[in-house]
Amino acid sequence: MHLHPKSISFDLNEHWLQVQGLLRTEFDDTAYRTWLAPLDLVGLDGDRVLLAVPTRFLRDWVAAHYADRIRALWRCVNPRVGGVALTVKPAAMAVRPAGGVSAASAQVRLGPVPTPCVAAAEPLEGEIGAPVDPRFTFENFVVGKSNNLAYAAAKRVAELDAPPFNPLFLYGGVGLGKTHLMHAIAWQIRRENPGRKVVYLSAEKFMYQFVKAVRCKDTMRFKDMFRSADVLMVDDVHFIGGKESTQEEFFHTFNALADRGRQIVISSDRSPSALSGLEERIRSRLGWGLVADIQPTTYELRLGILHCKALAFAQEVKVPDNVLAFLAHRITSNVRELEGALNRVIAQAILVGRAITLDMAQDVLQDLLRAHERRVTIEDIQKQVAEHYQIRIADMHSARRARAVARPRQVAMYLAKQLTPRSLPEIGRKFGGRDHTTVMHAIRKIDELRATDPVLSEAIESLRRLLQG
Ligand code: ADP
Ligand code: MG
Repeated sequence: MHLHPKSISFDLNEHWLQVQGLLRTEFDDTAYRTWLAPLDLVGLDGDRVLLAVPTRFLRDWVAAHYADRIRALWRCVNPRVGGVALTVKPAAMAVRPAGGVSAASAQVRLGPVPTPCVAAAEPLEGEIGAPVDPRFTFENFVVGKSNNLAYAAAKRVAELDAPPFNPLFLYGGVGLGKTHLMHAIAWQIRRENPGRKVVYLSAEKFMYQFVKAVRCKDTMRFKDMFRSADVLMVDDVHFIGGKESTQEEFFHTFNALADRGRQIVISSDRSPSALSGLEERIRSRLGWGLVADIQPTTYELRLGILHCKALAFAQEVKVPDNVLAFLAHRITSNVRELEGALNRVIAQAILVGRAITLDMAQDVLQDLLRAHERRVTIEDIQKQVAEHYQIRIADMHSARRARAVARPRQVAMYLAKQLTPRSLPEIGRKFGGRDHTTVMHAIRKIDELRATDPVLSEAIESLRRLLQG
């Protein structure tokens, strides 16, 4: 493509700006500001892009949670980039001990720099209470079968003074609207009930604040800050797993607020019972209120969302219906990618002055569409599994219960759940209109058998490799 320069170092700064732009659209504001904005471009190390972060904590965090995306986006902007390396900025910013330091002792302090404790003296409340993306309102949220429970529940929470259920636990895959709904709650309360104090923050931010408070011996202040909230929303709570002290703190904060009748809203990419990094008592406590899931999108919902988003640009460009339908058919992963695809098409039209057509959209989205093609479908799975067990594909849909066909069918359902974003009801439909409880039973059964049956386990692994190719 003409866009790609021959040498990698060419336009490195320009590419970094583009990567930052993409990161900003991909991650919510808080996450971006907390973890990604501090990254600085240093230069190249071979074909790797070198980025610097101010602290080791930040480096580890970014490496664990964002490195894959940063690398992918770099490669998307400049395919010659082989990888990304993170380094901690040299100690120029280190907090100096009182009384100054000699050159020799300053040397010793080189390396990871602690987050300066002065930061804890900043008005934390402003930081954590800080909302909230104005695009994320209930009015802008398109409701369909897959998300109407979560929508209705969020709406109730925003409307009522006393918690209708506590906590409201929203869960669903990435990019399906969890953060959007939480922000929408915050907006509505702020508009209609400005006396209520809403605190929204990501679980990452919660951890970060807590770790900072502990290091700066300022946990009282940390606690007080949350205790005054009428509504506390913690986004992406699956990130809290693992760190025991933070879990503990989160749990205390949670209980203190719930006891006082304050509303808590939690989001996560999995259900409370599947939050494996969390202690059992915390997990079960999180499931006490209303657990509302957001299922993968349907075609109708995707189309509705695209119509809604395209409307916002109606003044500038017209996106033909066949292009919207094409996108809704092809970009099925999540709403964020869907939006991203539409934005790219629109940006191309506005910036380059190219009319939007089906050909143009296919051209602009080449890489994205190719990535989607590689996704495994339920049909692929049924075919491979049938071949492996030497049964007919029709038996995947048939009502026959003989072990010889029932077991492979269960294996296929199991793989469908693992390898595709389809929901249990959707999977059931693809297997001769079976009920979602049948699918759930199949998954459990296979899980159970795998633990004791190495032959089955091996067969599943090799099928998986074959399918993901
Ligand atoms: P999550 O937090 O679940 O990962 P987000 O709330 O960040 O997902 O949503 C990703 C993007 O998709 C956001 O820009 C959001 O506005 C948009 N989005 C998701 N669901 C909907 C919907 N039902 N209607 C309109 N926009 C949506
Ligand atoms: Mg989110």
